[in-house]
Amino acid sequence: MSDSSLLAHFAKKLQAGDCKLTPRREHVLRVMLENKDKHLSAEEVYNLVKLRAPETGLATVYRTLELFSEHDIIHGMDFGDGRKRYELVDPADDGHHHHHLICTRCGKIMEVDEDLLEHLEHKISSKYDFQIDDHQLKVFGLCRDCQKKKKP
Ligand SMILES: [Zn+2]
Ligand SMILES: [Zn+2]
Ligand SMILES: [Zn+2]
Repeated sequence: MSDSSLLAHFAKKLQAGDCKLTPRREHVLRVMLENKDKHLSAEEVYNLVKLRAPETGLATVYRTLELFSEHDIIHGMDFGDGRKRYELVDPADDGHHHHHLICTRCGKIMEVDEDLLEHLEHKISSKYDFQIDDHQLKVFGLCRDCQKKKKP
């Protein structure tokens, strides 16, 4: 999906929840769209929004990110460094989200696009009679670059 159709898609989602995509909110949404592959913290979003709209306050960015989370436009996640990070919800996502690999040395976050948990899910649902809607997997370790640096 192109950025402009994604923007329209998310604007519709807001409208469905009786909210409008105001110019301020649009700045935040565009920053999220331009950094689709990253996992930005609220402060990082704020710094990028300020480049486009210098009058924006940090509280506004926080509120907007909260609003977007409530409307399932973005996901907030904690990768263990105490800062909440955000990413856009992929409209093509069937609800089972991708997994994250987190480098404990440089903080890089990589994505695993496959589910890979079907076997586990099947076992859980049959053994515990539990209907799985979603799950999150975070894998901590060292990225390729940091592994190289570690070696003499
Ligand atoms: Zn799954
Ligand atoms: Zn690393
Ligand atoms: Zn992600």
